[in-house]
Amino acid sequence: MSEQFIIDKGSLSIIETLQGAGHTTYLVGGAVRDFLLNIEPKDYDISTTATPEEVKKLFGRSARIIGRRFKIVHIYKSRNVYEISTFRRMPTEEERKGRFDDEGLMVWRDNEWGTPEEDAFRRDFTANALFMDPLDNNKIIDYCGGTDDIENGIVRSLGEPSVRFEEDPVRMLRALKLVGQYGFKLEDAVAKAITQLSDKICLVSQRRLYEEILKITYKPYSASTFQACHEALLLKYLLPEMDALLSGPDAQQFLDLIGNRDEKISQGSSLSRAYSLAVLCYRYVEQSLNPDSNFGDGWETFDGIDLKVREAVEDFLQPYHVTRLVSARVRDVLLLQRRFKIMKGRNKTRRHPEFHYAWLLFNTLADSLDWPKVVTVPWENDDTLINKRPKSFKKRGSNR
Ligand code: ATP
Ligand code: MG
Repeated sequence: MSEQFIIDKGSLSIIETLQGAGHTTYLVGGAVRDFLLNIEPKDYDISTTATPEEVKKLFGRSARIIGRRFKIVHIYKSRNVYEISTFRRMPTEEERKGRFDDEGLMVWRDNEWGTPEEDAFRRDFTANALFMDPLDNNKIIDYCGGTDDIENGIVRSLGEPSVRFEEDPVRMLRALKLVGQYGFKLEDAVAKAITQLSDKICLVSQRRLYEEILKITYKPYSASTFQACHEALLLKYLLPEMDALLSGPDAQQFLDLIGNRDEKISQGSSLSRAYSLAVLCYRYVEQSLNPDSNFGDGWETFDGIDLKVREAVEDFLQPYHVTRLVSARVRDVLLLQRRFKIMKGRNKTRRHPEFHYAWLLFNTLADSLDWPKVVTVPWENDDTLINKRPKSFKKRGSNR
């Protein structure tokens, strides 16, 4: 295990300010886990003994209290957003009773302040329950044995897994993310509880599950994460159509396509939602338009294809209600594939707002299906095609 990662300056200065004001403050959760694995964290979560109001007072206008019942603070610093939470404790039996909202869906965030130790034990897995003080030689504060479990690659639940998963079924998905991202193994009790309780994931609101699925696509481990969810029989509740594809004859090519996207993301390709969702939808849409096709054959065009593709995209992403804007963007990325294939309409194609992402998908298909290089070369020679992002593109990693 290496410990050479440089901690982000913004989070250091926030921790400095809070500690300077006398509040115990640590880097927490995934950032510490990733630090120990020497992987650049996606975000830096900070926990403190200061209440949200005290944090707001210290940071003034750059801080915003988010949430009504479950308050956390967002601090905006050099174009990054940092999430600051106050140490909390586990809810008591009594407090747990009010965990379902009016629609019978789960409300999961714990909201009673606690000590750092209590806070560690209300988290999900030991690997996610470590704290680090970057101002004290990166000292690791380990109340639950997370350091050893990271070293040995084990997903160990804090508390009885079935109780913790009943309390918040998203934890099952979070366990499988650790498997997919880092190759960790589930401890037996966790694996068993997931087998018994996988259908409980349906108690979680669609909005939260959709966010979790998008979060998987923001990382370069989505193929192994979706595969882990499929093997644990969780994916059939999360994305039934994707689960069916992973049970069918195209499973390996489908995984290769997603894996190739992961590779592109880790090499710095943009994290566009339209591109990532189009990768996931591609085969399902292809089969809807061309039922006898092999993977990558594409489809012929016809009147009304726009609507058909958008409907197929929406079907694939069931049970989530994606916005019209997102499904239309994914549709466009998919529809442009044919133009690359028949090498027609270059000027029109390159002016299309989704050109950049469509081109990326085409390359992802070409790489994963081993298409001869000649297929992509005629477009590659045109500099403006490759390097230009649409004007509306914000900043790198904006998950547009
Ligand atoms: P990522 O790299 O995806 O950000 P993460 O583990 O940091 O992974 P976050 O959603 O940022 O995930 O959550 C931060 C921390 O909050 C986690 O590491 C974990 O300690 C705690 N946490 C998040 N979700 C839950 C949950 N459902 N139950 C208990 N603890 C949770
Ligand atoms: Mg995190």
